[in-house]
Amino acid sequence: MHLSPTAPSSTRLSDAARPAASITRDWTCPFCALLCDDLAIESHEGGRLAAPAANCPRLAQALACYGEADARGRCSVGANDTDLDTALTHAAQLLAKAQRPLFGSLATDVAGARALYTLAAGCGAILDHLHGDALSAATLALQDRGAFFTTLSEVRTRADLVVFFGCQPSRRYPRFFERTLAASPMARDLVFVGCEPDVAAPGLAQARVEAILPDADPFDTLALWSALSEGRAPGALRGGAAHPADAAGTLAALQARIAAARYTVLVYEPAALPGPHAALLIEALHRIVKAANRTVRAGCLALGGDEGALSVNQTVTWLSGLPLRTHVAAPLDHNPHRYRTARLLANGEIDALLWVASFAPPAALPEISGDLPAIVLGHPALAQAAKARGGATVFIPVATPGIDCGGHLFRTDGPVVTPLAAARRAPLPSVATVVAQLTARLNAERTAQEQP
Ligand code: SF4
Repeated sequence: MHLSPTAPSSTRLSDAARPAASITRDWTCPFCALLCDDLAIESHEGGRLAAPAANCPRLAQALACYGEADARGRCSVGANDTDLDTALTHAAQLLAKAQRPLFGSLATDVAGARALYTLAAGCGAILDHLHGDALSAATLALQDRGAFFTTLSEVRTRADLVVFFGCQPSRRYPRFFERTLAASPMARDLVFVGCEPDVAAPGLAQARVEAILPDADPFDTLALWSALSEGRAPGALRGGAAHPADAAGTLAALQARIAAARYTVLVYEPAALPGPHAALLIEALHRIVKAANRTVRAGCLALGGDEGALSVNQTVTWLSGLPLRTHVAAPLDHNPHRYRTARLLANGEIDALLWVASFAPPAALPEISGDLPAIVLGHPALAQAAKARGGATVFIPVATPGIDCGGHLFRTDGPVVTPLAAARRAPLPSVATVVAQLTARLNAERTAQEQP
């Protein structure tokens, strides 16, 4: 585990032109899994936040979700405001009655995940994340065939050929090119396979950008390309209905460039791959990279893990030995299909939902029956939707890691755990704090029920 050695610093700024603000430098942004750590964020009177130099629309959209009202966020039970103590009591009673609860969304950090796992073990809950489909595809491919990953710093310092498969990173990760490639004087080829070039790529100095087979079916492309990577001659693959001769020749030429490159990185986004069998595509991409490593250096970079997906998955895996989509009961049961949130809700297989949405914009509650008891630990902006649901809905506003509390998140390239510092301090509890209190209440509730 790697921890960043630099701690962010805060200063108070004020001048005639601007209202007073405190500014945190070297702040780490928690709003996508790139976890950019080179930012300065301003916290203004009233709770407004701004990062004017960041040039990131995703960050700007997230920061627009924070304001003065957050500090006044109230808990609720049904349609009525209440205090934290009452909300926790109701939530514990609700979980004590549940036979098969689902803990969904799970948009939190490492500490939140640790606390949620303990609570799940206490009530036999199923764990799934908001990005469970993309996570599960990656996990299935890893379990079946292994993986060959690289890191953002390897891309920055070594990659002379970067191949993007079916993705344009700046759509979801606006600063990807700025953070990985822009600052380096190294000459590189950027090849987009199965899509048009990313609009952010042509602006890079020293980079030659091209697209190949932009409209091809991704399954056809990877079937052909992985066969070529294993040494099949293009001539042996030509003429088939699914493999036009020009596709075979184009991919053979790309394979030759990989063989001649010093270091190839193959970038993909699990969430951008077509479902429901994205795992097959991920397997093929890693097969190509593994084959390349017999003679040259190459690695895959998977972009994903937002809203704490990677962090929660890693935490649950080290605590239980199994990834998300696990039923935390005796015995533990992991099933990426059976424990999919959408399926569980559609089939009425759960009797309570705990929904965690601590980042912004916050993940809204899914469409669920009005009878299904729900506990929402979320951004204060979710309060109205929770109250509108009425009935057995408990809402507790929580802090966002990196905004109103510290925390830790895993970066998209896996082994790096990044500490987060609060940009402001609205008086909201962290997910870990609330869940620890809820676990204590649940244990007390159980003890009370067992009294003669
Ligand atoms: S690219 Fe992601 S981590 Fe970086 S500033 Fe934008 S939202 Fe934040």
